[in-house]
Amino acid sequence: MNTKQQIESLREELRQHNYNYYILDEATISDYDFDIKLKELQALEEANPEFFDANSPTQRVGGEITKNFKTTVHDSRMYSLDNSYSKEDLLDWETRVKKMVDGEVSYTCELKYDGASISLTYENGNLLRAVTRGDGVQGDEVTANIKTINTVPLQLKGDFPERFDIRGEIVLPIEGFLKMNEERVANDEEPYKNPRNTASGSLKLQDSSEVAKRPLECLLYSIVGNNLNITSQSEGLEKARAWGFKVPQEAKLVNSIDDVLEYINYWDENRHNLPYEIDGVVVKVNNLYQQDELGFTAKAPRWAMAYKFKAEQVSTRLNEITYQVGRTGAITPVANLEPVQLAGTIVKRASLHNADQIEKLDIRVGDEVFVEKGGEIIPKIIAVDLSKRPLDSVPTLYLTNCPECETELVRLEGEAKHYCPNYTACPPQVIGRIQHYISRKAMDIDGLGGETVALLVKADLITNYSDLYELTVEQVVPLERMATKSAENLVNGIEASKQIPFERVLFALGIRYVGETVAKKLAKHYKSIDALMFASMLDLVTVDEIGERIAQSVVEFFSSEDNKQIIERLRLFGVQLEISAEKLANQTEKLKGLSIVVSGVFESISRNELKKLIEDNGGKVSSSISSKTSYLVAGDKMGPSKRVKAESLNVPILTEESFLNNLK
Ligand code: AMP
Ligand code: ZN
Repeated sequence: MNTKQQIESLREELRQHNYNYYILDEATISDYDFDIKLKELQALEEANPEFFDANSPTQRVGGEITKNFKTTVHDSRMYSLDNSYSKEDLLDWETRVKKMVDGEVSYTCELKYDGASISLTYENGNLLRAVTRGDGVQGDEVTANIKTINTVPLQLKGDFPERFDIRGEIVLPIEGFLKMNEERVANDEEPYKNPRNTASGSLKLQDSSEVAKRPLECLLYSIVGNNLNITSQSEGLEKARAWGFKVPQEAKLVNSIDDVLEYINYWDENRHNLPYEIDGVVVKVNNLYQQDELGFTAKAPRWAMAYKFKAEQVSTRLNEITYQVGRTGAITPVANLEPVQLAGTIVKRASLHNADQIEKLDIRVGDEVFVEKGGEIIPKIIAVDLSKRPLDSVPTLYLTNCPECETELVRLEGEAKHYCPNYTACPPQVIGRIQHYISRKAMDIDGLGGETVALLVKADLITNYSDLYELTVEQVVPLERMATKSAENLVNGIEASKQIPFERVLFALGIRYVGETVAKKLAKHYKSIDALMFASMLDLVTVDEIGERIAQSVVEFFSSEDNKQIIERLRLFGVQLEISAEKLANQTEKLKGLSIVVSGVFESISRNELKKLIEDNGGKVSSSISSKTSYLVAGDKMGPSKRVKAESLNVPILTEESFLNNLK
């Protein structure tokens, strides 16, 4: 086999595994083996850039940055849907349909996936572009982001038309959504509101590798184009499936409006068993000739009708308001409700967010309240049923002292939440900070879990994360559920964390508002904790994407004597408090202030390496040429339009060679 065949065969193999796993739900390879093969393909592609393929499975990991999404006109318009909310509405629609077409009418019933609509264009079986709905006539091209979604085939199988659009919905399945939120909460970030908004927000993220991290799915429901050789909606769905698209099996072809109603009732009751959210059902006239006869109104097809489910609501009693203290001391009031069945689960608690929310609702213990679960996974209290308010009810007074340590709470100007300022001794803060320090994305300490941290704190063995490094096996063994072996693992895991790079240590410190990305930015800019400690507010806000709120929090963190001491201890134990010499050696400021576009295929370096090189030298990589672009680095096979644009804006074009030489 020559190299080209080897690359092709690996791509084909990975594509098939991907299809089996994401579309058929049947794993045919272990994650580990898949990774190995993917890495093998990556290496081959990097060594042989002439075989670059924008639709190779390696392109799914993302990395492309888009600052401005290009507006693109849809080949055919993306319509909206007419809505119905009752059986009567649907029967009226059936009457209108039957008046306008000849012959029997059958219907496809589909679930109405609740996400963000997308139109994918395929040419010769390759994904050409992905465009958001926009105003229906034109949308934003978000191809780089969509490519990272595993259920979007980059190359089709079987007997597909030469060129067509396929429409679908990008959804975020509930399990993945909850997991993302768990991580956000652990990072002390606001959880996302609901899967739909998170899905649609994902389409417009600038960094496609961020999109790649989100467990999004693309569910398809309609093929449009010319000479498609398809005669009905259900046939279209079948074919799309055969070409490699994810078309949910719940879609059903039925022969009467009674069957449609049965389908609707079934899914109204059973929708909570689906892995993703739906907000209704879409009914479509099945026969495409009949669809043609019916045509469109100004905004929607006459041959389709959405039936929207009502948001589910119940009323129940508010038994108590309790308050939770987070890792940073933020207080969250929680409504403890009389347990009630709602949307497939039993609801006992709902977040009340903050003092303003309580005041706005004027919610009081003993009230009957309306709880809703609409698009939101987390139940919401909509309102109080004032007609049922007990005569002796008293207005809610917001908590004044910390429920854990009794310290008086504070509320900073402009902030919605109250905080417990007892940073050093409030137990959930002390434990939470250490739990954050050891967590997977921070120091990733093997052999030590959140519960053990709580035990260690309660046993007075540690009071902050620097104490971890003095723990001995003998001290740990007597703890609950500890054996010599697990105690050894714990101590070894802590030892190993001394190798974790500075940027992650910085994240692990748990400075408020310094999440993973901000930590990376700060580490890259300041290079050592000492430089960061000396940075003033004014200096901090000059760093890209660091605003006043973050800057203030950093300054505050390092002005605390306790924190300074803890950091000195970390230094003593050998934790990485600066960027490693090796990394530093590759970083310069040579390209500072320059915005550089990279396009085409390169010979001596891969595109990602080139981008990294630019960033390591202080430059900014941007994806599209504008008057602000400093240089265009042009490789082989660069599109002619980029060249024309660069020339018309007087953006200098550099070859790979001259660019690399200039950097030396
Ligand atoms: P609306 O946004 O309420 O006007 O509803 C129209 C949207 O429903 C379309 O733009 C699609 O994105 C979405 N949708 C979800 N599932 C389907 C489906 N099975 N068939 C057609 N449209 C759907
Ligand atoms: Zn407290």
